[in-house]
Amino acid sequence: MDILVQVKTAMDKFEEAVKAMAKMPKDELMKAIEENKKLCTCPVCPTYNNCTKTGKELLFCATGKSFMCISEYKGCICPACPITDAIGLKHTAFCIKGSEKAQRYESAIWGTKVL
Ligand code: SF4
Ligand code: SF4
Repeated sequence: MDILVQVKTAMDKFEEAVKAMAKMPKDELMKAIEENKKLCTCPVCPTYNNCTKTGKELLFCATGKSFMCISEYKGCICPACPITDAIGLKHTAFCIKGSEKAQRYESAIWGTKVL
């Protein structure tokens, strides 16, 4: 699959969700983020640890990598999280690999996976 086809197929549920969020007033957006945090299943993932818990880190698919908390990857339960289906996530392990947007960008531009 060439880069143009990859970019075109990326214009999907996730892209639509990002566009919809970009149009939201700030207070509405913050409210939506807090609601989505309640759905994030990271706290029951084996990779989630005391550091991320203490820092109340959640929603890595949107916010990106954990801030220096994750040192050991023990698997990812993102595919079973309701957010994955709701906004069409294609990637996983966001706490160590970066947000969905970052992983899609790296993959489309460089044809590689984020390490
Ligand atoms: S997809 Fe993963 S990072 Fe995103 S909200 Fe769900 S469990 Fe959290
Ligand atoms: S992003 Fe995936 S690997 Fe990281 S804590 Fe959440 S469910 Fe686990």
